[in-house]
Amino acid sequence: MSTQPGRMLPEVTEESRAFWTGGFEGKLLIHHCTSCGRYFHPPVGACFRCRSRAVEPKAVSGRARVAAYTINHHPWFPAFPPPYAVAIVELEEEPDVRLTTCLVDVDVNSVEVGMTVEVVFDEQDDVALPFFKPVSA
Ligand SMILES: [Zn+2]
Repeated sequence: MSTQPGRMLPEVTEESRAFWTGGFEGKLLIHHCTSCGRYFHPPVGACFRCRSRAVEPKAVSGRARVAAYTINHHPWFPAFPPPYAVAIVELEEEPDVRLTTCLVDVDVNSVEVGMTVEVVFDEQDDVALPFFKPVSA
């Protein structure tokens, strides 16, 4: 059982397992196509760019850039007391790969587009949720 009721946990599939569990080893695993050499997300069995099935999860640096964000002031989930920042971040290796996430360890008033963030993992039951925190300069 989760120690934080109200947290919504993702449904883990065969293809998304690496993404949701890589964090237990401190790795952000993003699907990578060995044919065209690009990362993509969400993880599926074929590259959406070149249709190759030669795809596999590969660790990225975990560094990203905030592309868009919204500050939520409504207590939708008990595990997230408002205000908190929901953000879309672009991976350093592949800006086309965007993850929707929550920003943690951040003053919501200081969040801005373009800020550099890095992944941190919140271990919940059998998944490690990737959240992002500001990179301290
Ligand atoms: Zn490809």
